[in-house]
Amino acid sequence: MQKVYFDHNATTAIDKKVLSVMMPFLEAQQGNPTSQHSFGRHARTAIEEAREQVALAIHAHPTEVVFTSGGTEANNMIVHGAAIKNPQSTLVRSNIEHPCVARPMEALTHQGWYQELLKVNHDGVITKEAYQSITADNISLVSVMLANNETGVIQEISDLSDFAKEKKAISHTDAVQAFGKMDVRFDELQIDAMTLSSHKIYGPQGVGALILNKRSDIEPLIYGGGQEKNLRSGTENIAAIIGFGKACELISESLKESSMRSRELQTTLEAHLKTLGAVIFSEKAKRLSNTTFFAFKDIEGSTLLTALDKQGFAIASGSACSSVNKEPSHVLLAMGIDEDLARGALRISFGNQNTINDVTSFIETLKKELQTLKQLTAIAA
Ligand code: PLP
Repeated sequence: MQKVYFDHNATTAIDKKVLSVMMPFLEAQQGNPTSQHSFGRHARTAIEEAREQVALAIHAHPTEVVFTSGGTEANNMIVHGAAIKNPQSTLVRSNIEHPCVARPMEALTHQGWYQELLKVNHDGVITKEAYQSITADNISLVSVMLANNETGVIQEISDLSDFAKEKKAISHTDAVQAFGKMDVRFDELQIDAMTLSSHKIYGPQGVGALILNKRSDIEPLIYGGGQEKNLRSGTENIAAIIGFGKACELISESLKESSMRSRELQTTLEAHLKTLGAVIFSEKAKRLSNTTFFAFKDIEGSTLLTALDKQGFAIASGSACSSVNKEPSHVLLAMGIDEDLARGALRISFGNQNTINDVTSFIETLKKELQTLKQLTAIAA
């Protein structure tokens, strides 16, 4: 059976070119990058080259790149790091943030900090009015994701930047999903901090970065030997960092072409889905070209997902990172989508390997599975 992977917002396959630059760092004796002998110096040089590759891809300065174990750690780092510097302050985030921004903020509300939420509208967009509704004054951090992992909606980051400047707070965007799918420029976004993850861009899992400008003074999350400018102690994951650097270089080279190709697939897919009666969430909003979040009324998302999986199509229901959670998507509920419809939510996220044939064969299979499910529902009723 042909297998088609449509879940690139969850994770991507490592690029062969990425793997080939990593292998020497996995196979041969490596020095600790803090060691002064030639092995250590070799490792240090390779890490600094990777830092430059990451910085170049997002138009940041290499000194602004702090390597972490991934997006989750980078998000926890900025939330805790900004909060600890400003006890009893308020942390502001949107109500559609990834759990690795939302949960650390919620945890801090039990330890003396406050939280205020920016509410999205029905399309999943944070409007200027949402910022105006924030009442707190002593704000340490404002965090708004650049693109949502479920709907693919892209937020207006200049609103975040203006608001944070006015409140003298650190501005942060989680760009884990945006990076590699749209042009992301740290210098132009006018924000203080940004999160990236390697495994969403055909790099290895378990590595990412917090991009942090010089002005932002945060407390480390992990203390120890002082690596990563004292912000993230621990011996560096050398091979993973090298792979992340290479993945950044490759994704920048192919960005224009890959986003054009995924936009074509998205347009075809959505036209067919609508003919079949699907609701496309955030259809009218500015969205990533690779992401389609949809539902069929009266059809449980997880049932359809299982049926499609048996036919070789890998898609997601709700948020991939919390697929153990059976609750309807918090993003859709925040948008005011009816709970029953939200339970039907399915996400397709295209990647570099997907073709128009994948889309047409998916639609054919979907038609058959929908028919079967509708017949079963009719019998049960
Ligand atoms: N932020 C967003 C928007 C994500 O979608 C994810 C993962 O799906 C993360 C953060 C977490 O990144 P990582 O898997 O590198 O910890």
